[in-house]
Amino acid sequence: MSLSSHSRRFDFLNWEDASEASSQKGSTLVWPFGACEQHGPHLPLITDTFFAEKILIEVFKAIPEKLPLWRLPPQSIGFSPEHADFPGTISLSAGVMLQLISEIGEQVAAMGFRRLIFFNAHGGQIGLLQAVARQLRVKCPSMAVLPCFLWTGVNALNDLIPNREVEEGLHAGLAETSLMLHMAPELVGVERPADGIDKKSETLNNSFVPKGWSLEGAAPCAWLTKDLSKSGVIGDSRDSNPNLGKDLEKVLVDHWVELFTSLLESEWPPIN
Ligand SMILES: [Zn+2]
Repeated sequence: MSLSSHSRRFDFLNWEDASEASSQKGSTLVWPFGACEQHGPHLPLITDTFFAEKILIEVFKAIPEKLPLWRLPPQSIGFSPEHADFPGTISLSAGVMLQLISEIGEQVAAMGFRRLIFFNAHGGQIGLLQAVARQLRVKCPSMAVLPCFLWTGVNALNDLIPNREVEEGLHAGLAETSLMLHMAPELVGVERPADGIDKKSETLNNSFVPKGWSLEGAAPCAWLTKDLSKSGVIGDSRDSNPNLGKDLEKVLVDHWVELFTSLLESEWPPIN
């Protein structure tokens, strides 16, 4: 398989091509992160991994093959203790995740890769990936580590999803259900729960958390799903539909194509 292979999956290269890939100027590896965790009664355990992998494939299709960009196989079991009360959830401890990511990160840095992007679709491991990214950068100063979250920073989402669902629809709500209805409707069950949200008020989360605190954001509570929801959904999936999912896919792909392209065109990381 040549370096111009359509898939650009790192583990499909032979060792000579891997060596050439890692030594290219600005060589960049993308590592998709998901989870094996409950996603309500209507979405599969693989939901986050599925989105990370599928969106990444579309992003890669839009980026010229001559650019030095490859993807690792997805990390499909993540850090999901908040969902542990629901059957099906399999989670690694924070310590094991840190060790696993550090060992792999150090090896790809030693090969010569200059950038490692964590392309994460599971909201419960954002902080952990940010911590390990900083640690890796210190250990491997020649390699930039960029811990990004699929849904964060995508401003165009606000035109597609009601504000309240953007704020409170943290898990298996309108966005994730619609995206799966578009990408793989055969994986979506019939139920459409609205759970784990404040149904009476338009203000954020004020039926669950002490005044001034929030689920995520400024003063977060490190909630467990069972604190909030019986169905496992945190959000409102009732209006989910495949047309919305198609629009969501487009804004996500466009956003990440733009960010990956700007990274590839940049000189990041600075050489100290
Ligand atoms: Zn999810």
